[in-house]
Amino acid sequence: MKYFYQAEKGQIDPFVLVVEGSIPNEKIKKEGYWAAQGTDYNTGQPITTCEWIDRLASKAWGVIACGTCATYGGIHAMAGNPTGCMGLADYLGKDFRSAAGLPIVNVPGCPVQPDNMMETLLYLLFQAAGLAPIIPLDEQLRPTWLFGKTVHEGCDRGGYYEQGDFAHEYGSPKCLVKIGCWGPVVNCNVTKRGWMRGIGGCPNVGGICIGCTMPGFPDKFMPFMDQPPGASLSSVIVVSYGSMIRSLRSITNMSGNREPKWRHRGRALTTGYQPTSY
Ligand code: SF4
Repeated sequence: MKYFYQAEKGQIDPFVLVVEGSIPNEKIKKEGYWAAQGTDYNTGQPITTCEWIDRLASKAWGVIACGTCATYGGIHAMAGNPTGCMGLADYLGKDFRSAAGLPIVNVPGCPVQPDNMMETLLYLLFQAAGLAPIIPLDEQLRPTWLFGKTVHEGCDRGGYYEQGDFAHEYGSPKCLVKIGCWGPVVNCNVTKRGWMRGIGGCPNVGGICIGCTMPGFPDKFMPFMDQPPGASLSSVIVVSYGSMIRSLRSITNMSGNREPKWRHRGRALTTGYQPTSY
């Protein structure tokens, strides 16, 4: 807690405030508090999460929301949650600006992809040192270089999708859209980046994409194991196109799998090659 108190008193400057976890709505409770850490020296009362954000956010050089709970509310903020919890930008407002004039920087993911988080922190450090331009963010306040592409665009199984070749059970190497993958409409780089040292990345290793980096998660992506609504139409189109492409490719594949006929032990040269006459 020492650093929180020091930052509040202006004894650490500049600092970056990293918020993890959703922000409960303390205004709707009848008594007590939803979430707190540390104690107020003057009153002896717990300091709520909201109060810490109020005390520190405007003093911070930069503010990062880490993970989907902090960015957009996440699982705790799904329909029916009793705490009224929300993401940091819902709490501070999308127009919030830090002491350096920066908007909140959102790094979603449930959990956040560790390299995405560290790369964003590092970027802000470079920016603070005057070595990088202002961090580029999209409308949802995500770093554009990390969240500008979809899961589908980086997926190892994209070739199966293109050929209309779909898995109907787990354990198959084929495209997972029929068993619930939301990859074509989800902004996330995990299929390119992997989880650890480039290894993994949900669909690459057999897990459907459930949209965990998205502001609408989880409500707009449930029930998780069902085929996404748009997928049936797109897959009908892909199946008809894909099966034609697959049969044409199988002809080329068969041809490519045979050696040219001039490779033989006979006495004649049959390559069709005509030596130049001198
Ligand atoms: S598994 Fe998902 S992300 Fe990968 S190709 Fe299929 S639909 Fe796209």
